[in-house]
Formats: sequence, C-alpha cells, structure tokens
Amino acid sequence: MTGVKNFTDEEGFGFMTAASAPRIPVLMYHEIRGEAETASPLAVAPDVFGSQLAYLHEAGFSTLTAGELAAFLSGGAGELPERPVVLTFDDGYGDFYTAALPVMKRYGFTGTLFQTTGWVGRTDVATRMLNWRELTEIEQAGVEIGAHTVRHPQLDQLSEQDLRDELYTSKSALEDHLGLAVPGLAYPYGYSSRHVREVARELGYTYAYVVGNAMTTGAAGTFAFPRLTVRRATTADGFRDMVNGVDTFELRGARMLTKGFAVVRRARSALKLGQEPAWYREAKAEDLAYPAKAADQDAAAADSAAEAAE
Ligand SMILES: [Zn+2]
Repeated sequence: MTGVKNFTDEEGFGFMTAASAPRIPVLMYHEIRGEAETASPLAVAPDVFGSQLAYLHEAGFSTLTAGELAAFLSGGAGELPERPVVLTFDDGYGDFYTAALPVMKRYGFTGTLFQTTGWVGRTDVATRMLNWRELTEIEQAGVEIGAHTVRHPQLDQLSEQDLRDELYTSKSALEDHLGLAVPGLAYPYGYSSRHVREVARELGYTYAYVVGNAMTTGAAGTFAFPRLTVRRATTADGFRDMVNGVDTFELRGARMLTKGFAVVRRARSALKLGQEPAWYREAKAEDLAYPAKAADQDAAAADSAAEAAE
C-alpha cells in the first residue's frame, strides 16, 4: 500500500488523503427482482445481477464489507485486496435472501446489507422484507448487517428526539437480535447533514455511507463515504465502467441529479406545492426508494397509464 496521509477534515469527520490514495467502487443495490415483478427503477433483475457478479469474479475483483473498507480508509486497519469492490444492499428486501445471497456464496463474495428495522418481516408490501431468521442466517454467512434507520425518514427533516430515536433504536434492535456490534449506517435517501453525522457518531456509529455516485476514497470522510447506484437501466458496459472507475456521462448525470435534489430539498420551503421542476420529481423517483404498498404501486401504474393516454 502507498502511504496515506491523514488530516482532520471539518466537514466529514474524515481526512484528506494523498492523490495516490485508492479509489474503490462501492455499489448500492436495492431489490434483486425482475421487471415483471416490480415497478422500481432501482430493481436489478436476478439474471443481470448474476452476470454482474460473474464479471467481477472473472475480472479478478475481491469483495470486502462496507465496514472493512471504512476501517481501512479511516484508520489504515486491515489490508485492501488486489481489486477491491464493495457490494451493499439497502432497505432489506426479501429477495436478497433468495436471489442475491446464493450468487454471492457461489463466488465467495461478501457485502453489507443496510436494514430498515421497522420493515423487518413485513409482507404487506410490494416486495416482502427480510425477517429476523433470514437476517441471522445472512449475518452467519459472513455478510455484514448495517443500520438504515427504523422508518426510513429524511433524517435532516426530523425533530432532535426523532432523529436520535431513528438512529439509536435501529442500531440497538439489530444488535439485540444479532448479538453483535453494528457500527455501520447508510442514510435513507443517500444524504445527510452535518448535524445528522454528528448525532450518528455520538450514538456509537463508527462509519456511514451516502450515495454520491462517485468512487470512494478516504477523502470523503468516515461519515460520508460515497456509493455508486446500480439500477435497472445500468447496462453491462455501464457496470464495467462503473467498477473500473470510468467517470461516465451517466455517472456525471446521476451526480448532478443528486446535487440538484439536495439543493431543492434544502430550499423546498421556498417552493409552492406542485412547482417542483421535472428533474426534481425524477430524482425523487430514482433516489427515494421505499417498499411501496402494493396498493400504492397499483395507483402509480394507473397514474402513468393515465399520463400515457393523454
Ligand atoms: Zn433506503
């Protein structure tokens, strides 16, 4: 490894690194489900997911968990494999157990699942959520479990008490059920504020991931490591570019969307209802994934059908 110089960074609780610092792709997945089964633009079909992992295997990538990478980048603990990549999965969809874990096991891959604890065991949603038995088995298979709050709110919009409750209760529920420390967090909707990061650290988290659509380096800060969104529209070429650190047009577009979304979100009180620009609605649809109730999804399908008919 090349030497990594650490400096205090006031914004992300991290540090700046030398220009030679490693850039690691951290991939963010949601559902692993076919197009016929879910309307989510973030769902990746099982056969496509299988091809992506086969590519990583053939190209000589090695996986590590989000926690292992965070420990390495923030303190130099452990070692990076030759071609590191991190697989992360948000929300805790039941298809992780049936469609993702078996493929990961086939290649000896690990990863991190960020679980929204209030959704554990839910079956009254379009895609059923993981239950505690499955989460225990997933953890025992070597996959790290991280927190993703209780109710999946936009954390910077909460009262102080609700913010603390979301971060504390989700962490302790996972720790109680799994019987181990849960140091990791992924912010719902992929963003945070300085105050959210401070409270997360105060409540015992040691690292957190955002979205960002960029390669991860230590410079991002221990509480704001970026991830790359893998979505249904991601092509095989796009996936290869992504994990090989090619800054594509698609990635730049995704970053602009994320950035623009953050700006409008902060200024949202200045916007009158219904005046959000189209790209804001698009960013919401892309980045604000949640397990829609089956009824909601039907309503959304009816809406788009009505729009198409106009
Ligand atoms: Zn989420």
